[in-house]
Amino acid sequence: MARVDLDALKSNFRHIVEHLAREQPRRPPRPIAVVKANAYGHGAAEVGRALEDAGADLLACADIEEGAVLRAAGVTAQILVFGALSVSDLDGLFDCALTPTISTPGAARAVETIARKHKQRLRYHLKIDTGMNRLGFRHDNLGRTLPELLASEGLELEAVYTHFATADDPDSRLFNDQGLRFERALKDVDDIRKGARGGRRPYVHAANSAALLRDARVWYDRVRPGLLLYGVVPPPLASTLPLLPVMTLRSRVVAVKGVRPGEGVGYGVQFSAERPATIATIPAGYADGLDARLGGRGVVLIRGRRAPIVGSVSMDMLAADVTGLDAAPGDEVVILGSQGGDRIDVREMAATIGTIPYEILCRIGTRIERVYS
Ligand SMILES: *Cc1c(COP(=O)(O)O)cnc(C)c1O
Repeated sequence: MARVDLDALKSNFRHIVEHLAREQPRRPPRPIAVVKANAYGHGAAEVGRALEDAGADLLACADIEEGAVLRAAGVTAQILVFGALSVSDLDGLFDCALTPTISTPGAARAVETIARKHKQRLRYHLKIDTGMNRLGFRHDNLGRTLPELLASEGLELEAVYTHFATADDPDSRLFNDQGLRFERALKDVDDIRKGARGGRRPYVHAANSAALLRDARVWYDRVRPGLLLYGVVPPPLASTLPLLPVMTLRSRVVAVKGVRPGEGVGYGVQFSAERPATIATIPAGYADGLDARLGGRGVVLIRGRRAPIVGSVSMDMLAADVTGLDAAPGDEVVILGSQGGDRIDVREMAATIGTIPYEILCRIGTRIERVYS
């Protein structure tokens, strides 16, 4: 069972808002609350509504379908779509009142066409590629690619943004380079906009969680925290923000048995006991989103103690070595969260198997019931 603590989520949002106001009291940037990928696995509908409740006036998702889910859940705040827009479902921008990102000339033409069809002006955010080389208009070629877009009658430029590739790497020079390129690009956009038909000056955003923590110079008018909202600081960074983890994962021991020295556990018998051992079976596996690499590496908490995950993680089950813990069927198992005085957090689990916290959260499966409190 996954418990999603919406009070923790709202508290995290407010702490971020307060932090921004404390550091930049004259013009504090406002957060864009990032809820893509089903709100990092926490459930987009509930998380979206809770964030709106906490004061979020702009949410961001990855595609039009995610935006439709937020609208269906009753979210009324503005919703920005980060991703590239597929051509087929652009009507959704109007049906669900979504704000697109325009990041390619092709998307510009497609969105312009759909705006004409709906006979409405559509505001959009312009994405500049400053070194990620993924989506966005190249920073060094705007004079050629932007004039037509900025002169468009059907489209209204609301904001300009970029995205950092290495904000979480304190040693990376690319982060600073991207910042400088973005500054130059902003000037270019301004010149082209004035040369075209004017329109209002767009606002600016750039910082994901890591950039928000790292460098107030890239806060601009808005910041785009995702991971921080869910109470996780992107590794290897540290923060003094009093953030609370939003997701906890719990299960129960369903069987306990003794194995003799030389006997093994699970598929492939990846674990074999060197001495008499007690093994607890837990009904959670890779079909629930638990990474198979946790087998032989990860731990769970049972009876307030760390019990190593042994053998391979199966589709629906895993096994933990509970030798000496006096474990019994029905005992609570904490996979993510705290028990007794100990806790296993998303960063620890990610580090254990060599991945990032984002992947751990996003992969928590739909089969797992999410309980909101
Ligand atoms: C996902 C995403 C974010 C949020 O990133 P975090 O590292 O979770 O804060 C911000 N901006 C864009 C464009 C994103 O795609």
